[in-house]
Amino acid sequence: MVKIPKSHPRYWSLYYRERIIEGMEKGMTAKAGLIAHGRGEAFDYLIGERTIEPAKKAMKAAVAKLLLAKHPVVSVNGNVAALVPRETIELAKALNAKLEVNLFYRTEDRVKAIADELRRYDPEIEILGVNPTKRIPGLEHERGRVDEKGIWKADVVVVPLEDGDRTEALVRMGKFVITVDLNPLSRSARMADITIVDNIVRAYPRMTELTREMKDYSRDELLGIVQGYDNGNVLSGVLDHMRNRLTRLSEGGVWRKKELD
Ligand code: ATP
Ligand code: MG
Repeated sequence: MVKIPKSHPRYWSLYYRERIIEGMEKGMTAKAGLIAHGRGEAFDYLIGERTIEPAKKAMKAAVAKLLLAKHPVVSVNGNVAALVPRETIELAKALNAKLEVNLFYRTEDRVKAIADELRRYDPEIEILGVNPTKRIPGLEHERGRVDEKGIWKADVVVVPLEDGDRTEALVRMGKFVITVDLNPLSRSARMADITIVDNIVRAYPRMTELTREMKDYSRDELLGIVQGYDNGNVLSGVLDHMRNRLTRLSEGGVWRKKELD
């Protein structure tokens, strides 16, 4: 990995960019994944590169739903494996959820590279999606392949950084779909049941922490959180946040300012 000086004002952004490049070099991340990452970065600038209130609300509802689930599954793709391999395992373990490698540009080599990477962090971990035998209806062959013991059977799935078409197909299958997506206007963001508009590098550690906190909540309490949740409202909240922030910045001026709030 290219060494980035810690003193660089955009150290973390460059650090994760390098992680994505490294993910590609390891054979995990597709070229299109680089583009998707850049799109995410652009939206992160707009929200201010921090976890905003609507995302906190969505995370709480997502964790409640996952704790109530019978067969929760956390899906992993090439960008996720490059950015948050350890954090994904930690989240799945805290939730007692299955992990499934699920790729838009599926190749056996890429699946294997991702599974190998995850096993570096936990050699014992069960990884589904290596030999998927089922297909999501409405998607053509390779794009729709899922594991019988994983997404196929799941009631609640977390599909971060996912393509909109596949998100919609999962919703049509009757799955409860949770996504993490920095773009509140993407089809995934609009189609999912719960949309967490946050960078996955911030969202996953927070969700693991939340899971540990909420594990002792009663069923009724968890149900209350899920029932009181409105994804449309939360997406509007994200757009309001962006609009208000841009208005504030525009009025306060950004020219040669060191920090933006
Ligand atoms: P859609 O098909 O849903 O309309 P898209 O084609 O723009 O959207 P994809 O490339 O299919 O999206 O999926 C990647 C999504 O993940 C993008 O919306 C991008 O903003 C988002 N994304 C990229 N990096 C991150 C990240 N680190 N954290 C959260 N979201 C991210
Ligand atoms: Mg897409």
